[in-house]
Amino acid sequence: MVLVGGGSVTRAMRGAGDTGAGPVISPPSAAVAPREPGAPREPGAPRDPGAPRAPTPSAPRAPTPRASPVAARTTPTTADTNAMGTSHLSPALARALTAATVAARRDGVRIRVISGYRTAAHQQQLYEQAIRTYGSARLARRWVLPPAESAHVRGTAVDVGPRSAAAWLQAHGDTWGLCRRYDNEWWHFEVATAPGTHCPARAPHA
Ligand SMILES: [Zn+2]
Repeated sequence: MVLVGGGSVTRAMRGAGDTGAGPVISPPSAAVAPREPGAPREPGAPRDPGAPRAPTPSAPRAPTPRASPVAARTTPTTADTNAMGTSHLSPALARALTAATVAARRDGVRIRVISGYRTAAHQQQLYEQAIRTYGSARLARRWVLPPAESAHVRGTAVDVGPRSAAAWLQAHGDTWGLCRRYDNEWWHFEVATAPGTHCPARAPHA
């Protein structure tokens, strides 16, 4: 997962399970957003367990006042959320996802990018971890591809959540060419068709 921006926003994006985003950046809708019970726990998504952690935050212990002017200006706009999740994505995917996110909000759906672009090194970590988890490369690659084959490394795939938002995107994404690709990954989307045309049939797995 690639994270940019301030600590409070980072916490907000870390995953559906993080409810401690804080009052500064939490929009009213986030406070009532239910935790998705069926969130997967596979190595690649939606929460990257191997994500390199920058020597960050420790916000509570930071000597600076919590209500700093900078933090006060950090407003929870759609643009902020989207800009984070689309960092380093291909322009086509970033545009499509931005448009879809705005449309989803009009339907009361908040699409979060759980994992977008990944470095090759990060993908390699996830792949090796998946091999340990599943016991073989053949099984592991159904969930996590090696870096040379990963659309995440190319910046052409996103994992989104929560599940309700992924369902919305699955139903409407083809408007912008966004398609769910695999039966076993409800969260993984790529630009896979021309905008306004039907998505190709899903593969059982990668
Ligand atoms: Zn994915």
